[in-house]
Amino acid sequence: MASLIATLARSVLGPRPEIFCASAVWNTGVTELRRRAGERQESGAFLLGSRDEARRIEEFVFYDDIDPNALRTGIVKIDGRRLGALWTHCRKTGRQVVADVHVHPGGFQQSPSDQANPIMAEVGHLAIILPHYAVRAIYPGAIGVHEYLGSHRWHDRSHERPSPFHVGWWPTWR
Ligand SMILES: [Zn+2]
Repeated sequence: MASLIATLARSVLGPRPEIFCASAVWNTGVTELRRRAGERQESGAFLLGSRDEARRIEEFVFYDDIDPNALRTGIVKIDGRRLGALWTHCRKTGRQVVADVHVHPGGFQQSPSDQANPIMAEVGHLAIILPHYAVRAIYPGAIGVHEYLGSHRWHDRSHERPSPFHVGWWPTWR
C-alpha cells in the first residue's frame, strides 16, 4: 500500500522514473541477495528486463549463478569467460541487462574497484548498491544509485529526489 501511494504521488507530482521494478520482483530478489551475502560477503546480480521510455527490471540473475567463484574473495568479481551463459539467457528470454545491483558491508558509495570495473561499460548504465549487506535499507532514498558516464567516470545520483529508480508499480502509456 505504501508503495502504491508512492507511485500515485509520484505519477501526479514528479517526472517518470528512468528505471523501475515491481515491488514483488525487487523484494524477492533483494531477499535472495541478503541470504547469499549472509552478513559476511558481498553478493550481486545482473538486473534483466526491457527498455521502452523507461527501463523495467523483471529478473535478477545472481553473479554466483553465472560464475560460481564470483563471491569467493568477499568482493564481487566475475570471470568474463563465464558471461556466455548470461548472453544465452538474455537471447532466450528476450531480456537485456538494464542495471546491476550488489551489496556492501558498509555504506552505499562506490569503491575504487567498483568505479574502475563497471559491470556493463555502457553510458547511462545504473549500478545500484545496497548498504549493510541489504539488512537495513533496500529502497531508493537510502541506497546507492550510480550512473556510468563512460571512461570510468560516474555520476552519483543516490541523493536525487525523486530518485531515477522507483520500486513499485508504474503506469505505462502507449
Ligand atoms: Zn562495491
